[in-house]
Amino acid sequence: MTNAQFNTEAVTWRRMIHAQPELTFDTKFVGNFVAEKLQEFGLDEVHKGFARNGVIGVLRGRGPGKTIGLRADMDALPLAETTGRPWVSKIPGKMHACGHDGHTAMLLAAARYLANEKNFNGTVVFIFQPAEERGAGAKVMIEEGVLDRFKIENVFGMHNLPGLPVGRFAIRSGAIMAATDDFTIHLRGMSGHAALPHAAIDPIVAASQIVINLQTLVSRNVDPLDSAVVSVCKLHSGTAMNIIPDTAEIAGTIRTLNPATRQMLRERFHEVVESICAAHRINFTIDFEKNAPAVLNADIQTEVAIRAATDVVGESNVEGDTRPIMGGEDFAYMLEARPGAFMFIGNGDSAPLHNSNYDFDDEALQFGVGYWLCLVNVALNTSA
Ligand SMILES: [Zn+2]
Ligand SMILES: [Zn+2]
Repeated sequence: MTNAQFNTEAVTWRRMIHAQPELTFDTKFVGNFVAEKLQEFGLDEVHKGFARNGVIGVLRGRGPGKTIGLRADMDALPLAETTGRPWVSKIPGKMHACGHDGHTAMLLAAARYLANEKNFNGTVVFIFQPAEERGAGAKVMIEEGVLDRFKIENVFGMHNLPGLPVGRFAIRSGAIMAATDDFTIHLRGMSGHAALPHAAIDPIVAASQIVINLQTLVSRNVDPLDSAVVSVCKLHSGTAMNIIPDTAEIAGTIRTLNPATRQMLRERFHEVVESICAAHRINFTIDFEKNAPAVLNADIQTEVAIRAATDVVGESNVEGDTRPIMGGEDFAYMLEARPGAFMFIGNGDSAPLHNSNYDFDDEALQFGVGYWLCLVNVALNTSA
């Protein structure tokens, strides 16, 4: 198979997956397609059913060595596509707006090449994961024993990045994406007439104080050289202009790069809400949802990733100390369990991720496939 044929095939797969988006754990169509292909390529083992529709492929090389896991996510988003491309989503209200179609196609193409060539020592485990966007599919796969059962020593992941030119890679050692914690605060006061505030307990004034005071969590508690975000994104209360309402609800998210900062902000968040509610005689409950930790790249594997990307596109096209992004990613759970590295691959001047006009750039496929192949070479054939 020539290089051109190889790339054409990856493009065909990508567009086919793009047209059939599936949400969270329901990645049955793409999961079956991936499993069939891996079997056809002659992998040593193919397993279905991890995290419901996840797929694992095991490929042993020509001799003994380490075992590494390469991960691609497969799920799409609940969004109506507006690209109008020939391969536009055939499923109303669902689309691949985060490029996981491209991630799946790239890892599949790499599996085909490696199964043909067997030009490495050790073992490559291909991890095709559902539910990256919601449901923490990576966490579920770990809980189901994927890393232990297949003896995976290091893990590698990749995500496309709009704004980074096609043919460029970006990574950094340490935190590259943020821990994401979400909160909802339910306030309960006592309703009454707007003209008789002394006979009511006003949750709106307390809610307003809370929103303003949450702004000081970062500005007055976090080291200015560290990074964190607290955003209040929902504030609901009231029904009429002459009624002090019974309840108010506040919801938002906390993003941090540093585990100690994450813990500190969580504590300070509770202190601020509790003390303001006490001051206003408001009853409250807090739903605090602790999601994925920060995506923490290990030093050695980041070096391996940089060497691999450099082999594909040359030193001048690899940013080895890129700025972190305050978005979250459930690959963080895998990096919490095993040392590894998460790489950004350029998607050029496309629409942003999670935008209805976004599309994975097929020109990027060849670079992503090349990265996986070089990564296997550097990680398994050198003393890295
Ligand atoms: Zn996404
Ligand atoms: Zn994504």
